[in-house]
Amino acid sequence: MATGKKYKNIYLGTLVFIAALITASIIIIDYIAAEESRMIELNDIGGRQRMLSERTVHLLLEYAVETDPAARDRIVELIDLVLIPFDRTHNLLIRGQLPNGQTVIFSDNIDDIFFDAPEYLDKKARIFIYNTREVLERGWSPTLVSNYYFKQLRAAAKQDLHSSLQVLAAQYTENSKVRITRLRMIVAVLLGGIVVVLFGVGAFVLIPMFRRIENQERELHKQAFIDPLTNCHNRRSFLANAGTAFERSRRYNHSFALLYIDIDHFKAINDTYGHAVGDEAIKQMTRICQENIRESDILGRLGGDEFGIILQECDLGYAIQTAEKLRARVSEHIIADDTMTIRLSISIGAVTVLDRDDDAFDILRRADKNLYEAKQAGRNLVIAA
Ligand code: GH3
Ligand code: MG
Repeated sequence: MATGKKYKNIYLGTLVFIAALITASIIIIDYIAAEESRMIELNDIGGRQRMLSERTVHLLLEYAVETDPAARDRIVELIDLVLIPFDRTHNLLIRGQLPNGQTVIFSDNIDDIFFDAPEYLDKKARIFIYNTREVLERGWSPTLVSNYYFKQLRAAAKQDLHSSLQVLAAQYTENSKVRITRLRMIVAVLLGGIVVVLFGVGAFVLIPMFRRIENQERELHKQAFIDPLTNCHNRRSFLANAGTAFERSRRYNHSFALLYIDIDHFKAINDTYGHAVGDEAIKQMTRICQENIRESDILGRLGGDEFGIILQECDLGYAIQTAEKLRARVSEHIIADDTMTIRLSISIGAVTVLDRDDDAFDILRRADKNLYEAKQAGRNLVIAA
């Protein structure tokens, strides 16, 4: 698969994966919030049921000491108003529901709390409701307060129902906390997964991808500006540098020199020893030039066996000196193996920038003219003007 397409697929796959993890995390966080709200609601209901049971007994006490039958009827109505919501809420809880319509998951088995728990909440709530109704049904009597049912009710409201409702709320809270802790751990694992995926993508996709892009950029730059045989500037890059050097010399009034170099009788080397040897001769000549100029000077291949050198911050005297050094070094150099011994020589046209030059091409033309004269004068020569 093409690399670009591969990276695109990895990127899309990662996005989908991270989106799935985030969605799962959000769903679980929602669930945790709902669970916490149920926990609070259930604790509130526990408190409310306790209050209703206490209110029932309180009203019954008023009922027991009330001598006016009409007032007693009103109290009975009030007791109904308290008992009905108490009864309804209790029945909802038995079915695992909250009055606001939410479903509560008490434990694996709701009976554990309502029927098998030591407190028998369901039984106690029913007895409480039954006893209340029984007291009212039996009718008023001056000795009502000492009635058996009445005493049971007071005891239940004070103690039994209280503790049972507390057990219910506490057990639910306990179960909820366990569930919430488990869910929080899952969320932490999911978020950790996202971090790991992001780091993984960074380390195994993005960094190699950036490295590849950098390499490609470097390669493109090389292809655009570097001569592949000699690794020095190609014609386009050399001319651009010559243009820049010219602009700089005009702006800052600095001088620079340009050497135009051509290998002597190079065709003969190609014809005698072959193109590969010719290539090797070009490379060795380039290396000699590179080694004998400064870091800031610019060597470029203008084509075939022609080269140019920009000597920065340089007057004609120094240009001639450098050109002579290059000519001497090349002519001293021997390219040899078992079958051949080749001596190279180069001719050089040297110039410095003049006031009458309009651009870098004027300088180049003058250098080329000097080079031509060097060739005419017998080669292996430097001509400067
Ligand atoms: P002169 O002294 O007048 O410069 O003679 P010359 O034989 O060097 O003539 P000229 O500079 O005109 O010839 C350059 C030759 O360089 C022509 C071409 O075959 C050869 N050449 C150009 N590019 C390459 C190259 O990349 N590799 C090799 N091996 N030869 C090349
Ligand atoms: Mg030549």
